[in-house]
Amino acid sequence: MSARDYLRRDLLDWENYQVQPVQGRKMDANESPFTLPEKVRRELADWILAQEDFNIYPDTDNTVLRQAIADYYGFGLDWITAGVGSDQLIDLLAKAFLEPGDRILVQSPSFSMYQTTAEINHGTAVSVPLLPEEDFRFSADTIIQALQEQQPKLLFICSPNNPTGCGIPKEDLIRILEAAHCVVILDEAYGEFSGADSLDLIRQWPDLISLRTFSKAYGLAGLRVGYALAHPDMIRAIDTVRAPYNLNTFSQIAAARVLGRPEYKERIQWIVSERERMQQALAPLEGTCGFHLFPSQSNFLFMRSEVEGLGAKLLERGLLVRAYGGAMASYIRVSISEQEANDAFIQAMKEIIQA
Ligand SMILES: *Cc1c(COP(=O)(O)O)cnc(C)c1O
Repeated sequence: MSARDYLRRDLLDWENYQVQPVQGRKMDANESPFTLPEKVRRELADWILAQEDFNIYPDTDNTVLRQAIADYYGFGLDWITAGVGSDQLIDLLAKAFLEPGDRILVQSPSFSMYQTTAEINHGTAVSVPLLPEEDFRFSADTIIQALQEQQPKLLFICSPNNPTGCGIPKEDLIRILEAAHCVVILDEAYGEFSGADSLDLIRQWPDLISLRTFSKAYGLAGLRVGYALAHPDMIRAIDTVRAPYNLNTFSQIAAARVLGRPEYKERIQWIVSERERMQQALAPLEGTCGFHLFPSQSNFLFMRSEVEGLGAKLLERGLLVRAYGGAMASYIRVSISEQEANDAFIQAMKEIIQA
């Protein structure tokens, strides 16, 4: 017998999430161009030197981190749970709520992890298309109709959406919440860049969960910290399937230290103004070789062109962006990075599109 003989039959042809090898300037994963402020790194270094308890398991309730989040938003502790990135929370949601054959409703294109995680947990993903001719804007009517037809257990709304950049208007979200008879997961991984505020909705709607992360605006992708804000009943449901000690001690402390620090407000503003600068610089290319830049409320730009192998051409110039295959082959997503990399991207696009 070999491992394949024992493997779940539905996973025999399973393709795991593919991460492309790092080469060139990394503009492919929506990471922050900023690392931890030096002052915080020194504080953490001091904390490590004074720390004598690395031989002890971490706080299984992630209390220091959850308390920092609770203080920051003015929520109770029991409205918060933390995960090893929000990816882990997506997995916990699937584990807690999906029975074999249950459906989740997602948008397409959107973050592929929802579907992958649902399927690993014996669920099925059904998707509502977002349309390029509508700049991939959300359609509340289409989502509500799909809710009625599909009766999903979970609805995922990524706002602003990865990879297309659009956020869902609050009034549309409210209409969806009014129509939904399922758990509604609002993935706000990029929420800090759009300025949208869902906190009052979370207080008001017990079926609504907001997923947030330290990986993007807070630049802690390497430490893997995400969290969920929701009604305490919902948090208890997620915690039912959360493994003990999920977050390590260091990640808990580091994330608690950065939340709400004034440097981050400035950094987020810088990224947003840099996004606007790139949008203006790319605007003259509109229409040439089918180039179209989609609106973005996030820390990345999504665009289309008829240039074949645009991602590869950018890589030849030392710029690693997110390129896609299949029906999405004419699209790329580029993360707002250091100014120099952004300039190099603008220059490369001008050369390639106008060639
Ligand atoms: C990056 C991202 C996440 C966050 O991932 P982490 O596991 O917290 O690093 C979640 N949702 C979307 C849509 C993302 O793009």
